Amino acid sequence: MLARDRLAQHYPLVVAGGHATYNPEPMADFIDAFVIGEGEEAIVEIARTVLAWRAGTANGTAASRPDKRALLQQLAALDGVYVPMFYEATYNNDGTLAATRSTEPAARLPVLKTIVKQLPPPVTRFIVPGVDVVHNRAAIEIMRGCTRGCRFCHAGMVTRPVRERSVAEVIAAMREVLQHTGFEEIALLSLSSSDYSHVLELVDAIRENFGHLNLNISMPSLRIETVSVDLMDRLEKQGRRSGFTLAPEAATERMREIINKPVSTRQLLETAKSIYSRGWTTIKLYFMIGHPDETIEDVQAIADLAHAVMLEGRRALGNRAVLNLGVSTFIPKPHTPFQWSPCDSIAQVREKQALLRREVRGPGIKLSLSNPHESQMEAWLSRGDRRMGAVIADAYARGAKFDAWGEHFKYDAWMDAFAANALESTFYTHRERDVAEALPWDHIDAAVKKSFLAEDLRWSARNQTRVDCRDKCFACGILPKFIEERRATPADAWQCPEVKPIHLRGNSVPQTSQLIVVA
Ligand code: SF4
Repeated sequence: MLARDRLAQHYPLVVAGGHATYNPEPMADFIDAFVIGEGEEAIVEIARTVLAWRAGTANGTAASRPDKRALLQQLAALDGVYVPMFYEATYNNDGTLAATRSTEPAARLPVLKTIVKQLPPPVTRFIVPGVDVVHNRAAIEIMRGCTRGCRFCHAGMVTRPVRERSVAEVIAAMREVLQHTGFEEIALLSLSSSDYSHVLELVDAIRENFGHLNLNISMPSLRIETVSVDLMDRLEKQGRRSGFTLAPEAATERMREIINKPVSTRQLLETAKSIYSRGWTTIKLYFMIGHPDETIEDVQAIADLAHAVMLEGRRALGNRAVLNLGVSTFIPKPHTPFQWSPCDSIAQVREKQALLRREVRGPGIKLSLSNPHESQMEAWLSRGDRRMGAVIADAYARGAKFDAWGEHFKYDAWMDAFAANALESTFYTHRERDVAEALPWDHIDAAVKKSFLAEDLRWSARNQTRVDCRDKCFACGILPKFIEERRATPADAWQCPEVKPIHLRGNSVPQTSQLIVVA
């Protein structure tokens, strides 16, 4: 099971990627290599490296191949590849991390995420399931990254810079998808679809090209504004009208300022009114509870807002109006401004959930809450350090498998595993971390500066919001890290400002201090 025990075997080679691996440390014992960042190009480089390693001998037989350590050394030299075996973590007497250091010359410190300069053509030849599945549709990514800077949002921080696909590319991809798969539903994906620069143009082009096909087009992650309703109104005119999802995340304007999702309650209610009055019968609202600055009044406000939204529904649709309320528990994520914040204790979460169960009732309203124990596990796995590996292996041996399925979740197995390994689970969840503390994921570089995150945390404490960084660049750190990539792409390919060297003559690579940002 452990990567170091597999060194003598050539296979399996276990490589992991995706957003969760921005803190790879809890899984460091089990994985041979992590891809930090975007996989489109990295996966090709990894495949080439493995093929070259396999062909590294005259007859190419397994017995005569160079050992696996040699392969891992080559992988560690690739952009964005982190081979945890080549790093060592040391700890202070109080249990906090002292440092993570590299033990192998090929292993870089830090490991900078890898990105694609421009989004490659989207996948259009999907495997079409023969049975009905949950997400029975094709997905086309229209934009990657987000410029809004919601402080709790891991994806918004780690997927910078924002890159978009052109309308022509999206339309061509849709046409191919329809030809190759026969799907009747297409999801146009991004972290914030209303912020896609050409969204109106895209909607018009979809109507023009596919309006006669009665497709169901979904555009998740729309901003809370009536313009979003206009958009969906135009998109869904020819198709079936399903539920409309909004994610205010917090119910008071104060909390929405703290998390940097500033939208007024009036705007939210106007949007809800517009949705119900244009024929959508169901609104889904997503909230979070558990931020350390949240009061019980902020939680009560979730219930009050739900009833206010439902009132709009009743006025427009009578008893046909439905409101689904999903309330999850806030887990402060690595590489976000809240990475130093503590989680609510289970008792605090239970108190808030009890209030919601009591207050959010009524015909047409459905409330769903996350299991506080499962949220704790999410926190250990996303915020833990390398010592979590022993806990994971131990919990597994005690029967913890398929924990994402509620009926298989064995909280006691995890608690016993923490105790057996002399670790305190609350060390990872309920402790506020000092901004100067070394964090388990500090050697993983998401390209947003730690100093920017710390400054944003201070802004949050003052209820100070940031505007969309397309309107004002806050110098989060992306541009100095990816200067060559930015210079090699057209001005409008990224939403970050253009960067030009002061010394426009000559071929020398400019230093960060020599950059001028062309806003
Ligand atoms: S460099 Fe500026 S524009 Fe680009 S993501 Fe960072 S803050 Fe936003």
